[in-house]
Amino acid sequence: MENTFTNRIEGLRKALAEWECDAFASVAAPDNQYLTGFTGSTSGVIVSADAAAFLCDSRYTEQAQQQVKAFRVSEVPGNLITRLGERLAGMNLSTVAYDPNGWTVAQLAAMQKAFPGSLKPADGIVARLRIIKSPDEIDALRAASELKEAALADVLQEIREGVAEAEVAARIEYEFKARGASGASFDTIVLFGSRTSMPHGSPGKTRLKHGDTVLIDLGCRHCGYCSDLTRTYAYGTIPGAWFEAVYETVFEAQSAAIQAVRPGARCRDVDAVARDLIQFRGYGAHFGHGLGHGVGIEIHEGPRLNAESELVLEPGMVVTVEPGVYLPGKGGVRIEDMVVVTEKGGEVLTRTPKALKVLNA
Ligand code: ZN
Ligand code: ZN
Repeated sequence: MENTFTNRIEGLRKALAEWECDAFASVAAPDNQYLTGFTGSTSGVIVSADAAAFLCDSRYTEQAQQQVKAFRVSEVPGNLITRLGERLAGMNLSTVAYDPNGWTVAQLAAMQKAFPGSLKPADGIVARLRIIKSPDEIDALRAASELKEAALADVLQEIREGVAEAEVAARIEYEFKARGASGASFDTIVLFGSRTSMPHGSPGKTRLKHGDTVLIDLGCRHCGYCSDLTRTYAYGTIPGAWFEAVYETVFEAQSAAIQAVRPGARCRDVDAVARDLIQFRGYGAHFGHGLGHGVGIEIHEGPRLNAESELVLEPGMVVTVEPGVYLPGKGGVRIEDMVVVTEKGGEVLTRTPKALKVLNA
């Protein structure tokens, strides 16, 4: 495992040379987890040609000593960012790279106050390393994916008329933790009836009725990695002819897009496979979001599958494929799976069936 982190540090050093910087500084938890293995929320990381320093406060010292092997761990008092800047100031550096996505304006000002050298924005410097997953990372994603599927399978058994959306969401998140996940990777979405037309609606007091649409979007964080899955069901009976037509469209669009996932495919072209099919069926105006996103240490990371992304897929990338059609006042359907880009094409990590299913029929 220590080797993993040494390799990542070396990868970052190569990137630093390309950015013409002699060090990198970060307080962003996801990048810091990738570089060091530390899973806590607050830390500072410095990587230069000959140093790899990890700074934390006393709340995290013991955890850092257990998790962080390839960096020199220091416990620092007071303001972590000021201490990070002072450390940089003592290192005889000219230009320090930082990822602007990982710093607030106030944090950057505090660092600059303590470090008089020049700071250079290096957008996505670590995110670009993170975009290709190693076999170990894919194993972690697979474990996170399996855990959430087991939780969903159990909770689906219990769903009965009269249960509230928020109760089902809470049951899913309980199952995540009871099964060993560190928690949900995002707020679980459970929506009933016409409320399913809100792509990211939040679960409330609405109670399940016979003939409702049921949309569940869930994912957990396990072994440091996230998972993501959406299924849409009918409860008791099909909500109407519109539902079958929309379900079939989304199902076919999702299947076709998964077939299009392969090394060398441009992200916007994969998005277009689903979007064109949905458009052709007359629902183009009702699919507003992108087709999918990368999943890893963060629930949403690169690559983005959307109409603008020129990025080309490579083996080791892991993406969701999640087209949806949302009809205000009626309801919506989204189907989402996680797909690993392999040498040959795409491997779907999710096993939960996706043929149209009526719960408790
Ligand atoms: Zn997603
Ligand atoms: Zn999702």
